[in-house]
Amino acid sequence: MEPCTSCGAALAAEAQWCGQCYAVVGVPPTQVAAVAAPPIAPFGGGSIMSPARTAAAAAGPAPMVKTRWKKTATTFGPLGRIACTVALVVPFIVFVLLGVFTGGLVLAAPVIWGFVIMPWGLRDTWRAGSVPAS
Ligand SMILES: [Zn+2]
Repeated sequence: MEPCTSCGAALAAEAQWCGQCYAVVGVPPTQVAAVAAPPIAPFGGGSIMSPARTAAAAAGPAPMVKTRWKKTATTFGPLGRIACTVALVVPFIVFVLLGVFTGGLVLAAPVIWGFVIMPWGLRDTWRAGSVPAS
């Protein structure tokens, strides 16, 4: 049993990693650091960056504005949002009416819909998206 060379914690005899700092047992701390942090390829040197992407990166990110109405890559436009809202609200009204007419027999449906599904769906539907500022 020997202490960790990096943090001094007691190690099990067969341990290959320190349980405290995850240093490799038997390797000096400086060498561990070199292993843990491999050299990073120069920026733009890889083939991941296409010329168009590189140019866009050089120009800086386009100014974006948050919107709850415009259609974005991740959100609906106004019509889609209204359609989703109607699709969420109409069943709730139906469930409430059902609950009223059945004397509370199907109370679980409006409660689950009104307090779980509808808020969840509406939040997603009316989530703000980012669009390029024009
Ligand atoms: Zn350690």
